[in-house]
Amino acid sequence: MEEQLKCLHCGFEYKMATDAKKGLHERVCPRCKSNSVRRLPDKKE
Ligand SMILES: [Zn+2]
Repeated sequence: MEEQLKCLHCGFEYKMATDAKKGLHERVCPRCKSNSVRRLPDKKE
């Protein structure tokens, strides 16, 4: 399962696989290393 994430700092959007076994984890933008990352709502078309 993947979730769509967007960095609020630089606006970079990316997908990251979720790992339920690891539980909560810090989401860090791969571009600017900011942790101001939010999950975007799923788009069901
Ligand atoms: Zn960023």
